[in-house]
Amino acid sequence: MTLPARVEVVVVGAGLAGLSAATRLATAGRDVHLVEAADHPGGRLRTERVDGFVVDRGFQVLNTGYPRVAADLDLDALDLGWFWTGAVLRVDGRAHRVVDPRRHPSAVLDTVRAPLGSLLQEAAIGAFSVRAGYLPVHRLLAAPEHSAEQALRRAHVGDEAVERFFRPFLSGVLLESELATSSRYLDLVWRSFVRGRIGLPAQGMQSVGEQLAARLPAHARHLGTEVTAVTGAGVVTSSGSTRADAVVVATDPGTAARLLPTVEASAPRQVTTHLHVLPASPWCEPLVVLGEPGGRLVNSVVVSDAQPAYSPDARALVASSTLATTTEHQVRDEVARSHGVTTGDLEHLTTVTVPGAQPAALPPLQHRRPVDLGEGLFVCGDHRDTPSIQGAMASGARTARAVLTHLGRRA
Ligand SMILES: Cc1cc2nc3c(=O)[nH]c(=O)nc-3n(C[C@H](O)[C@H](O)[C@H](O)COP(=O)(O)OP(=O)(O)OC[C@H]3O[C@@H](n4cnc5c(N)ncnc54)[C@H](O)[C@@H]3O)c2cc1C
Repeated sequence: MTLPARVEVVVVGAGLAGLSAATRLATAGRDVHLVEAADHPGGRLRTERVDGFVVDRGFQVLNTGYPRVAADLDLDALDLGWFWTGAVLRVDGRAHRVVDPRRHPSAVLDTVRAPLGSLLQEAAIGAFSVRAGYLPVHRLLAAPEHSAEQALRRAHVGDEAVERFFRPFLSGVLLESELATSSRYLDLVWRSFVRGRIGLPAQGMQSVGEQLAARLPAHARHLGTEVTAVTGAGVVTSSGSTRADAVVVATDPGTAARLLPTVEASAPRQVTTHLHVLPASPWCEPLVVLGEPGGRLVNSVVVSDAQPAYSPDARALVASSTLATTTEHQVRDEVARSHGVTTGDLEHLTTVTVPGAQPAALPPLQHRRPVDLGEGLFVCGDHRDTPSIQGAMASGARTARAVLTHLGRRA
């Protein structure tokens, strides 16, 4: 659909931030047009079909503990398949289940017996989780800020828990293994794990973006259209210029910094994910297997255990992630060891590296950066809140409110 020469609002970028902003503005009755360079909505939530398997571009999950996910998405329609809350860690070749005892009482004994330090240290993990899960957010955000590692040390969870559980688990979430990320962001992320469940939609993560995009009228969605310049009075695209009363830049952080000289992009975090097929799953429960200290993998997951629709048949689809760029050959042994199978069982499907998977969230956490740049120009995206699905959606909602105020003032 061609972008008209004059509209009320242009939103640039159909990731979750742009979609959240545009759908809110449309619901408020505004003439909003969403312009996206790629041929699909959802931005970094992208899914392909490879030999009948549903392959997300990098392993990522939907966390129902995120307030915006719970409030804004139709979770039933996504037909989510669930992971257990917890992980498998391997120590000296043995697999140990560490799970949330409230949700999976059958595995409580395994969790207590897992090599995570003394009982006192295990109790400290519980106390850390209760604090993050149940203190009000304003109190978590008012707590003194450290690095994530310092926060775990101060919570007295102990070395074994940090090295065997928290570091590999959080490396897969924060996409950095130093645990240099802000303790405030760690609190928010941990809160979402305590309060929510982790799932995968039957049609892949891209379907989250598609669900939001379907709430906009077809004439307002412009895929395959790159915006090359913006002002508060309009945009220039590959096919011409459009004037507007407000322009929202909802691109990835790097493009936002190029289009908007006053916006600075945080350092990008990258991830490489290798997809393998196994004849069948070696596991009874859908759990993430954590990488071992000193290894290349941060985690390896039979995604089809959580969401059987990711596989066209009884075979298992395995996603294994590394922070450094790796070749399949470099991780094959480790993937096999993680699942207690032989390398001969593994059939390599594809490998994907996402260079700008998430912006860094180092201390001081710049949560809720300004979205109104003045004179009709707005910016949103995970780089304005937290580097997550929640951050992207929350920044989009915040920006829609700011745009409505601006339009109200103009009127
Ligand atoms: C592999 C991976 C794993 C992740 N794991 C998790 C996870 O488990 N949990 C979690 O909460 N978060 C995770 N994230 C982060 C999460 O996906 C992002 O924070 C969120 O999707 C960012 O949304 P956004 O709308 O801010 O940006 P984007 O999704 O980047 O959307 C920006 C959009 O703008 C478009 N665009 C760019 N330039 C232009 C232009 N010039 N003109 C028009 N359009 C343009 C892009 O094509 C894109 O569609 C992960 C990300 C990746 C990649």
